[in-house]
Amino acid sequence: MTVILNVEPKNYSAAARAILEDLGEVREGPLTRAALLDALSDVDVLIVRLAHQIDAEVLDAAPRLRAIVSATTGLDHIDLQAAEARGVAVLSLRGETEFLRSIPATAEHTWALLLALVRHIPQAFASVLAGEWDRDRFKGHDLAGKRLGILGLGRIGEKIARYGRVFGMQVAAYDPYRADWPDGVARRATMADLLADSEVLSVHVPLNASTVRLLGADELRQLPRGALLVNTARGQVLDEAALLDALESGHLGGAALDVLWNERSGAAESPLAAYARAHDNLLITPHIGGATYESMAATEIFMARKLRRFLQGGS
Ligand code: NAD
Repeated sequence: MTVILNVEPKNYSAAARAILEDLGEVREGPLTRAALLDALSDVDVLIVRLAHQIDAEVLDAAPRLRAIVSATTGLDHIDLQAAEARGVAVLSLRGETEFLRSIPATAEHTWALLLALVRHIPQAFASVLAGEWDRDRFKGHDLAGKRLGILGLGRIGEKIARYGRVFGMQVAAYDPYRADWPDGVARRATMADLLADSEVLSVHVPLNASTVRLLGADELRQLPRGALLVNTARGQVLDEAALLDALESGHLGGAALDVLWNERSGAAESPLAAYARAHDNLLITPHIGGATYESMAATEIFMARKLRRFLQGGS
């Protein structure tokens, strides 16, 4: 009997669960890391989200493991080399371009963050909750007419380009790996060209060796004074100390982040969280970009079917 351990089953789609139950014995977390290490000895398939770092220690605790299933495109929570070395397949959404085009959650959240940032929505609502009705304190900015720069024009970046155009923004992007190019998006030849021109910069690159700290102090300085930055990609693509400096010096007008460098351990202690507590121009959400019922159910069902094909000996 195939043993499937689903470590983060909260709100898991019932339809996906039904597929898994046809495939074997399904066990469910949630588990601390210590409990996870103890629970793996007879597990064949491990279904994860982002709560756990699946590293060599976890893999060594799972001698029967055949597959790790992650309904994500980013795979930095899994040690891919360690998995490959042990012959463990990693099934994910990476490369599932056609399916992913139908998933809007992270792009919609990116846009929600941008609107919340330019219109001070969290602070305005907090003031209403505090019994105030102050129409002067929350004057914001238009998006229409502004220059939107998109770093990484993949699945999410392309949706953001479309939203930007609908909002009347001038949209440009930098993506050196992309062959085709959508209409209505100006192509920038270098990242420096994009940065120099972006009143709003939205970051949508994958995290890999060449994108760690892609945006450091030098790059942030290339943005026009007062620019806004939105990052829903991965915390590590941004040098957070440089971002803090750029906010404190006033060079950046504001930022909105859905991801932090150390979000799995000690996000609350992040200097950025401390800055956000004391200032209105930094918004942080706890990596909820992809977290909608519709998008998560669709991805869970897709991954359960992919696991079925894998267990039946397909690709
Ligand atoms: P994607 O692979 O479809 O697109 C990424 C694009 O970035 C590609 O077109 C690639 O060519 C380009 N790129 C790579 N390196 C680059 C560089 N150095 N400069 C410019 N462009 C570069 O990925 P996606 O599905 O659009 O995801 C984008 C990001 O969003 C990823 O980091 C992913 O992990 C993250 N993400 C976050 C959430 C969330 O909940 N916040 C959810 C899903 C995805």
